[in-house]
Amino acid sequence: MHRITLINGDGIGPEICESVVRIIKSAGLEIDWDIQTAGADVIESEGTPLPQRVLNSVKQNKVALKAPVTTPIGKGFRSVNVALRKELDLYANLRPCKNLPGVKTRFDNVDLVVVRENTEDLYAGVEEQINSDTAHSIKIITRQASERICKFAFDYAVKNNRHEVCAVTKANIMKLSDGLFLEAFRTVAKDFPQIAAREILVDNLCMQLVQEPSRFDVLVLPNLYGDIVSDLTAGLIGGLGVAQGANIGDDCAVFEPVHGSAPDIKGQNKANPTALLLSAVEMLKYIGEETYADRIEAALFKTLSNGDKTQDLGGSLTTTEFTEKVIQNLV
Ligand code: ATP
Repeated sequence: MHRITLINGDGIGPEICESVVRIIKSAGLEIDWDIQTAGADVIESEGTPLPQRVLNSVKQNKVALKAPVTTPIGKGFRSVNVALRKELDLYANLRPCKNLPGVKTRFDNVDLVVVRENTEDLYAGVEEQINSDTAHSIKIITRQASERICKFAFDYAVKNNRHEVCAVTKANIMKLSDGLFLEAFRTVAKDFPQIAAREILVDNLCMQLVQEPSRFDVLVLPNLYGDIVSDLTAGLIGGLGVAQGANIGDDCAVFEPVHGSAPDIKGQNKANPTALLLSAVEMLKYIGEETYADRIEAALFKTLSNGDKTQDLGGSLTTTEFTEKVIQNLV
C-alpha cells in the first residue's frame, strides 16, 4: 500500500482534503495517509508553522498531497509553502492549464503548461529596511537554478509530446538577473534540438495570453513571474477552483492546488475540490497508479459535463454534494 503524506492545511484545506480522500477511497484505492498538520494551528503547540516532523514525513514517503496553508501575516514566520519547497528542494512548480469539459470560458483551446522556478528570485525573501521610508528586496538568480528549471521544462516537453518551450523574462530591463536566466535557457535549449525554443517578455506574454492563449505550449519562468502568470492562466480555464499544481524535486514531490486557503469561504461547504482533485490525479500518475488516476479524472469530467458544479463555476452544489456526484460517476 502507498504511504503518502497528507497536509490538510487550513481555511478550506480540510474540507477539500476530505472530499479528495473520499473520492480516492471510493475509487477502490487504499492509501495509508500519513496526516501532518502545519500552519497557524500548530504554532502555539510547536513554536513553528512548519515543524520538522512534516519535512521528515515528506522526505520519508517521497510524495505528499497538500492543501493550502495560511501564513500568519506580520508575525515573523516565513511562508510555509515557500519554506516547504525550499527545504525539500522542490525546484520545479508545474502548473498544467487545460480547458475542462463542461466548464465554459472565453477560450476553448487552452492547453499550456507553466513551469515556474521555485527556489529563488524575489521569493528568496532577502529584504532589508534601509530606513523608515525605503526598503530593498533582492532578486536572486543563479545559473545553476536557472539551468536546472530550464532542463526540467525541456525534459517535460519531450516526455509529454510538447513542441515548444518559451522562456519568459524581463531581460530587456533586468539585464543581469533575467539576462542570466535567458542565457541559461539558451544553453539548455541547444541540447533539445527537437523542441522549439522561444523567448518572450513577460508583459507581452500577458497581453497575448488573454488574446490568444493557444499560441503557447510550455512556459518556463523565474519564480515571481511564474506566480503571477499561473494565476492568469488559471483564470483562462475557469479560475482558482480548477487549477492544479505540483512541486517536484529530484527526491520527492508535493502535489497542491494553485489556490490559497480562501478564508472568505472557509467552513461554508462551498469550496471547489476540483483543483486539489486534479493535483491528486497527477499524484496518482506520478506513483504509477494511472488506472485509478484515469477513472477519477473521467468521473470528474463527467460530473462537470453534466452541469454539476460548485458555486465558483456558476453551479449550486455544496462541496459535499459535488463530491458525491463525482463518486456516483466512478465506473
Ligand atoms: P494566497 O495568497 O495564499 O494565494 P489568496 O488570498 O491570494 O491566497 P485564495 O485564497 O486562493 O487567494 O483565494 C482567492 C479567491 O478565490 C477567493 O475569493 C476564494 O474564495 C476563491 N477560491 C480560491 N480557491 C477556491 C476554491 N477551491 N473553491 C472556490 N473558490 C476558491
